Amino acid sequence: MLFLCSLIPLFTVGVAAQDASTAATAATAARAACLATRQDLGPTKVKFSGTQYDDTTEAYWSFFNRGDEPTCIVYPSSASDVQAAMRHIFHSQSDYAVRAGGHSPMIGWNGINNGVLISFEDMTDVSYDASSDTITVQPGATAGSAEAAVESHGVSPVWGRADVIGTGLLLGGGISFQGPLYGWASDRIKELDVVLVTGELVTATATNEYSDLFRALRGGANRFGIVTRYELYAAHTGTRDDKLWYGGLIVYPGSSSTALLKATAHYVRDLTDPNAAAIMILNAYDTTSTTAHACYFFYKGTSLPASVFGEFLSIPSTSQNFSSYSFYDITFLIQGDNGPNGQQYGASAFIGDEATFINGYAKAVNFTQHFKEQLIRSEYTISPIPLSVWAASLSGPNSIGNPGVNYATVDFNLVFPDNEATRPPVLNAAFKLLLAQNPPSPGLPLYINECHQSQEVFASYRNYPALKAAYAKYDPTGFNVAHTRGPKGL
Ligand SMILES: Cc1cc2nc3c(=O)[nH]c(=O)nc-3n(C[C@H](O)[C@H](O)[C@H](O)COP(=O)(O)OP(=O)(O)OC[C@H]3O[C@@H](n4cnc5c(N)ncnc54)[C@H](O)[C@@H]3O)c2cc1C
Repeated sequence: MLFLCSLIPLFTVGVAAQDASTAATAATAARAACLATRQDLGPTKVKFSGTQYDDTTEAYWSFFNRGDEPTCIVYPSSASDVQAAMRHIFHSQSDYAVRAGGHSPMIGWNGINNGVLISFEDMTDVSYDASSDTITVQPGATAGSAEAAVESHGVSPVWGRADVIGTGLLLGGGISFQGPLYGWASDRIKELDVVLVTGELVTATATNEYSDLFRALRGGANRFGIVTRYELYAAHTGTRDDKLWYGGLIVYPGSSSTALLKATAHYVRDLTDPNAAAIMILNAYDTTSTTAHACYFFYKGTSLPASVFGEFLSIPSTSQNFSSYSFYDITFLIQGDNGPNGQQYGASAFIGDEATFINGYAKAVNFTQHFKEQLIRSEYTISPIPLSVWAASLSGPNSIGNPGVNYATVDFNLVFPDNEATRPPVLNAAFKLLLAQNPPSPGLPLYINECHQSQEVFASYRNYPALKAAYAKYDPTGFNVAHTRGPKGL
C-alpha cells in the first residue's frame, strides 16, 4: 500500500478545531450577533435552543455535518430578514454558515459551532410566471418541491438527479440528466437576489452592473453572498404525464468493471447527441462477483439508441429496468434521503481515456480494501459533461469555464457507519493521497459539489482570475473567507 508510506499530519475540519480562546472570542461575537438579530426579528425567527433548533442541527444528509451547536439559528422569511442577520453578523465579526437543503457532502460547509446559522426552511416558495417564462425559487426549496410546484404548466427547473437536493446545488454548477440538452443548472439562472456580507441587497443578472457577481455566484458556491431569490429560465419538458424520455437503471456484476470503464471512456469521448444522458456508479468496495455497479441511462425519445448506448447494452448485466419517463418521474427516481451514514466526497475530472478511468478505479478499490473496517461502501461515480452542456447556457459564461472538450466529473465517495470515531486521521490522509494520485486531466475543472474540502477547486477554474477579482470587489475585507467554511483559493 504505497500511499501509507507518506502519511500527512492530522486532518482538521476548517475552523472546527478552534483553541479555547478563539472559541470564546467566536462565541462572544456570535452571541452579540444573535441577540441583535433577535431584537430585530423576534424570537420565532431567532432560536438559541428548542425543538426546531434541534431538528435543524440534525437535518443534514451526512452524519459528519450533524450535531454542530450554532449559538443561534436564524429562520428568515424574507430577504430583509437575511439582511438584518448579515448586518449584525458583519458588525459583530461573527462566524456564520448558511443551510439550504443540507445535502453538502463537504464537512463543515453548511453548519457552524460558536456562530450564527441561517437556515432557509421557512423560505420554500416556488412559482412559475408564464409571461417571463421563468420559475422563481426561494432558497429553501428542493429539486422535488420545485418540480412538483410547476410541472402542471409543462415546465421544469433544471436541477440535479435527486429530488431532495436543495438550492445550494445551483451555486456549484448543477449536473442533471437534462444537462446535455439544457446545460448546467446554474446556466439557467436569469436573476439572483443576493445579500452581500455587509447586509446590502443587490440583484445580479448577466447584463446589469452586477454581471461580474452574477458570473462568480455560478460556481462560486457559498463565497459570494447569500442568495435569497433564484429566477430560473423554465425548461419546456412537459407535464408529469408526458413520457418523453426512455431509459432507467441497469445493474452490472462486479466482474464487468473493466468493460464498463472502457465503455464509459468511449461514451465520454464520443458523445455528441444532447438527447443522451448517463451516470455510472461503480462500487469500489470489493471486486467479488457479488459487487454490483449501477448505471442510469436516459434518452429523449422512445428507446436507447444502439449508436449511443450499444456498448453498454452489450455488457452482461444483472438486471435492466427500462421504461418511458416524464421529466417529473426522473426527478423523483433517485433517492437521496438523509440516512444514518457519514459521507465524504472527493473530486477529479477525466477526459474519455480508457486507462485513466481504469487506473482511477483500481486506486479507489485499493484504498477501499485497506479501510474496509471503517467503511460500509465506497463508490466511484462518473458524470459525463459533453460540450453541449456549455453550449446550452442561457446565462452567459459561469465561473467554472468551458474547457473545450468532452469530459466527466469523477466523484470518490466514501460511506461510513454513523460513528465519527471510525474516521481515523490515517484514513483522511490516505484519502487526500488518493485524490492527489488521481488529478484532473490537464485543463479540466474540478466540480465543487463533489469535492473534498481540502481541494483547490477554484484554482482549477478557467475563470479563476475573474472569480478572484469579483471576490476582492464584493467582499474587500475578506469577511466571508475569515468567518465561514467553504472553498479555498480566494
Ligand atoms: C444524494 C446526493 C445526490 C446528489 N446529486 C447531485 C446531482 O445529481 N447533481 C449535482 O450537481 N450535484 C449533486 N449532489 C451534490 C449537490 O449539488 C451538493 O450537495 C449541493 O451543494 C447541495 O445543496 P443543498 O442546498 O442540498 O445543500 P446545503 O448543504 O444546504 O448547501 C450547499 C452549500 O451551499 C451553500 N448555500 C446554500 N444555500 C445558499 C444560499 N442561499 N446562499 C449562499 N450559499 C448557500 C451552503 O452554505 C453550503 O456550503 C448530490 C449530493 C447528494 C448528497
